[in-house]
Amino acid sequence: MRKLLKTVFLVDLIQGLWVTLRNQHPKHIYTEQYPAQRPKIAERYRGAPRLNIHPVSGETLCIACNLCALACPENLIVVTSERNEQTRRKELTTFIYDTSRCMFCGLCEDACPVDALELTQDFELASYTRDGAIWDRQMLEEGPKPTRYRY
Ligand code: SF4
Ligand code: SF4
Repeated sequence: MRKLLKTVFLVDLIQGLWVTLRNQHPKHIYTEQYPAQRPKIAERYRGAPRLNIHPVSGETLCIACNLCALACPENLIVVTSERNEQTRRKELTTFIYDTSRCMFCGLCEDACPVDALELTQDFELASYTRDGAIWDRQMLEEGPKPTRYRY
């Protein structure tokens, strides 16, 4: 009898609607309003690469040791260098990083002995084509430039 009354008076439906209405308050909204509001990125997130330079001199921190290229399972980093005959030190000439093949595992970053190569928190790498996915030294040193949307 109780079950019949519940069915006739649509108790389950009303209870369901009440739960829905109760959760309409803005404080219960979990949808991120991206790109108007940028999401909070985890501290250890590994995103777009950057080749760090000295903040004062502007010189690259990279010592062209090639360890990042050797550590990369995708073989997507190419580092070339030449020896400076005066200082007898290897100097970086080119640094190529193919972001389209990168899986952001961070092995290259971990292998770098001088913290020159860094995977930043920039996650906006999606694109419709692979054009521009191969980053050269200049692009890597300038670092990612995330789009700032205006509303
Ligand atoms: S993050 Fe991983 S896949 Fe990407 S360049 Fe570094 S080692 Fe290679
Ligand atoms: S980025 Fe780091 S690991 Fe890679 S060549 Fe430069 S110094 Fe070596």
